[in-house]
Amino acid sequence: MTGRSDCIFCRIAAGAIPATIVREDEHTIAFRDLDPKAPLHVLVIPRDHIASINDIVDDDGPVMGALLLAARDVARSEGVAEGGYRLVVNTGAAAHQTVPHVHLHVLGGRDMSWPPG
Ligand code: 5GP
Ligand code: ZN
Repeated sequence: MTGRSDCIFCRIAAGAIPATIVREDEHTIAFRDLDPKAPLHVLVIPRDHIASINDIVDDDGPVMGALLLAARDVARSEGVAEGGYRLVVNTGAAAHQTVPHVHLHVLGGRDMSWPPG
């Protein structure tokens, strides 16, 4: 497979682990979170392995932009664009990042409290 065989999200991107994919394009894949924290909980990831926001480089601008465009589309297609939703990118230990492959959480379908935990 392409990507890192020791990375769960690279394995999903390669089709080696099943996931419920809701959108994909050249740069990104969006799939439902296995353990949803809201009625809508989709993860948007870059196809290529980037461990965290700390590891993005200037050349990653297009792929990082593609993640936001994909999140916008998911919010529209899942019906939360008008009512509101939250995008979250946990980075590092203090933010409880558990999978070291950049992912955007698209959360919605309920009132999202603020401030976040
Ligand atoms: P983090 O805590 O790193 O910001 O978020 C990782 C997310 O990945 C969690 O919400 C977790 O439920 C989800 N996750 C972990 N393993 C899998 C998996 O194998 N499949 C899917 N669909 N989601 C996963
Ligand atoms: Zn990866």
